[in-house]
Amino acid sequence: MTLFDLSNISGDRSGDRYVTVIVDCIGIDDLLTYRIPEDVELQVGDILSVPLGNRQVGAIALQISDTSTIDDPETEIKEITAVVSSGIFPKTYWELLTRTADYYRTPVMQTVKTALPPKLLDQSHYRIKIKQLDSPQANLNFAKSAQMVWDFLQEHKGNSKGLSRRYIQQKLGRYTGAGLRELQKLDLIETVLELPNRPQPKYEDIVVLIKVPDSEITARQTEVLTILQHQGGECSKSQLCKLAKTSASVIQNLENKGYVVISKRESLRLGGKSHTVIRDRAKALTPDQDLAIQQILKAIANNSPSHFLLHGVTGSGKTEVYLQAIATVLEAGKSALVLVPEIGLTPQLTDRFRARFGDAKVNVYHSQLSDGERFDTWRLMLTGESQVVIGTRSAVFAPLSNLGLIVMDEEHDNSFKQDQPQPCYHARTVAQWRSQLEQVPLVMGSATPSAELVFAQKQQELIYLELPNRIGNRAMPPIEIVDMRDEFKAGNYSILSRKLQSAIAEMLEAKQQGILFIHRRGYSTFVSCRSCGYVAECPHCDVSLSYHDPISPTAHQPKSAHLRCHYCNYTQIQPKSCPQCNSPYFKYFGSGTQKVEQELTKLFPNIRLIRFDSDTTRNKDQHRLLIDQFRAGTADLLVGTQMLTKGLDIPQVTLVGVVSADGLLNFSDYRAGERAAQTLLQVAGRAGRGEEDGKVIMQTYTPEHPAIQAVQSYRLEEFMQTELEMREALRYPPKGQMVLIHLSSENAQIVENSANELAKYLRQLENDWEILGATPATIAKVANRYRWQILLKFMPDVLPNVPSLEELRMLVNAKAVRVAIDVDPLTIL
Ligand code: ADP
Ligand code: ZN
Ligand code: ZN
Repeated sequence: MTLFDLSNISGDRSGDRYVTVIVDCIGIDDLLTYRIPEDVELQVGDILSVPLGNRQVGAIALQISDTSTIDDPETEIKEITAVVSSGIFPKTYWELLTRTADYYRTPVMQTVKTALPPKLLDQSHYRIKIKQLDSPQANLNFAKSAQMVWDFLQEHKGNSKGLSRRYIQQKLGRYTGAGLRELQKLDLIETVLELPNRPQPKYEDIVVLIKVPDSEITARQTEVLTILQHQGGECSKSQLCKLAKTSASVIQNLENKGYVVISKRESLRLGGKSHTVIRDRAKALTPDQDLAIQQILKAIANNSPSHFLLHGVTGSGKTEVYLQAIATVLEAGKSALVLVPEIGLTPQLTDRFRARFGDAKVNVYHSQLSDGERFDTWRLMLTGESQVVIGTRSAVFAPLSNLGLIVMDEEHDNSFKQDQPQPCYHARTVAQWRSQLEQVPLVMGSATPSAELVFAQKQQELIYLELPNRIGNRAMPPIEIVDMRDEFKAGNYSILSRKLQSAIAEMLEAKQQGILFIHRRGYSTFVSCRSCGYVAECPHCDVSLSYHDPISPTAHQPKSAHLRCHYCNYTQIQPKSCPQCNSPYFKYFGSGTQKVEQELTKLFPNIRLIRFDSDTTRNKDQHRLLIDQFRAGTADLLVGTQMLTKGLDIPQVTLVGVVSADGLLNFSDYRAGERAAQTLLQVAGRAGRGEEDGKVIMQTYTPEHPAIQAVQSYRLEEFMQTELEMREALRYPPKGQMVLIHLSSENAQIVENSANELAKYLRQLENDWEILGATPATIAKVANRYRWQILLKFMPDVLPNVPSLEELRMLVNAKAVRVAIDVDPLTIL
């Protein structure tokens, strides 16, 4: 289907211009070149219609040049058919994409696919309209076909959306092409992207608690009111029925008795489901908040691409600062982009944004949306209307055309880095580029700033804003460290210390709630002694050794269980007993959520548990459901992994337990210390957010570890300083830069050879870099694929010639070996 047929306009060959495009066609990943007809004006980023074989497909203009990239003069270069939509992307958008592609060594096409939602180029979403003209065109003199199309469009002028080409063609047949062409030449018509309707507000019954339960009512009614109380005293009727497993008539009865009132309120959408949020107003700022916001507002007003670090513990009022800064941006008719780590965090945060700005102003964008939802959200962004977009990593590419501010919450979070597919971009890096390209400030918030930002602060590359206290000066919960070696000596072989057991018992007694944090099992690959706490470390590097199972991928590797360094490939046989104290309890360490669950039910037969990990929260509503249930008091203890650390704000949580801090500390990775300290502080921050004071119990075999010490005193600054010095000495990021090349294959020998050959090839290139490897990856075999890696280490100012993904593919046996490249890897496992 063509929109405007320009193919018969032939140009003068000498002054030819060409456009490189990506086409929207499954299976065609190459960039294609087309000729631009002489009288057609094009911009990079325009959506085009181009001939491909005997079809017409959508395409995006990526590059315009005077020379074609096709050398063979015999090859016929076709002309583009039409410009479907012009200027819909922010001006610097393509520069952002190409910079990302180049920096992360990934083909542009693949980068574009990461950024754009599917179906964007589908022409059925475009409509033809008569242009709105200042002065009506009086006596137009058209050719017959143009006259027919013109009259037809005039007849349907009432349809503000415009008409699809298909519809016009059905009615006017063969006159359509020529008619539209002439009208377009005369600049009387335009093509627009069809925009979805904003959802209409919905109303819902809200139940508000007005009298606390007393002896006048039944136990069942008291239970319902208590659940309502846990929801902050307000909740939608339907949700209350669900949470309390009760009926509307019970609630009606409570209203009749004067305990609650039921009223109608606007209900806001949340992930497709409705859920009522109470409208909220800006708070009077604390002096610290005010100081922070003044500086941000100044940068917004000056269109200054300043980068801010907003440092404050959980509960210090960072989100309130974002909200008020964004309010100013919206008042100015601009848009704001808010990047958040994981979708587990988004429900609560998006609730707050919707409560402040209303449904219509807030769009949520993340990878768990369906294709259709993603596409619709994109089109809402392309309207150019002032709005807030809240999204995960890939939302950094949201095509907001009049951006006024970028916010990145929990900037230290690893989920901002893409693992796969390529490009392995870091949303913070891309956000920094975007801020510069579009001249807007970037506010990065964290309770535990990343080494990157601590380093940038030292280099005075950002503006530091601090919120040193919790709102209301509520104290941080005290952190108690339990030395698990003592437990073992005292004959307690349980994974729960006596202190943690009694704290759980007390918590159950007081009918309070708690969170138990367990480090993700798969990564606890270090080996330690249960008697003395000794951890096997590499004699050449500052990292712990990783345990490898005896199943060896190739003949050259030890047949028995062994320990290996992932930086230098140092290997030793797993000792039978502890090299330090000779204890036989020198083992591969790790305890999963399920094991802890078993142990808890053994100790506390009546305990009500909710397991919260990637197994139980697979679908997008599961998170909210589990958290809502927990908030409603249906369980005593939430047992879970990493996900618990993110923004979970449940006032009645008084106890936080960390089953083993060691799994985090002894990660065989140079970032282990930083990550451990950040995670543990985040976990601790979940306790004592309500009226009752909280407490934190942290179990470890290495209480003397600097990260544990830093966490206990809630002071990461000193720790990060030492951490940075250590990294500088070893030229690790952020001082140095790294690139990790992954290779994998079903054939162990082929991948080993390929990896070694590639390393040899890289070594003979003239570059000022250090090449570590090739070495097998920590998890040496995944899904029957053997994995190897090569690490390149260099100083950022050296700018070595790192091969691109395409080049790497040519260098290895591409049929048998899969290759990937990770620039600035967060982990080298
Ligand atoms: P953070 O994002 O740092 O965790 P929040 O912005 O969520 O902190 O603030 C913590 C709590 O304090 C929230 O319930 C918030 O509504 C409240 N709050 C924030 N700023 C103020 C203020 N200036 N006055 C009163 N309450 C505030
Ligand atoms: Zn080593
Ligand atoms: Zn020992």
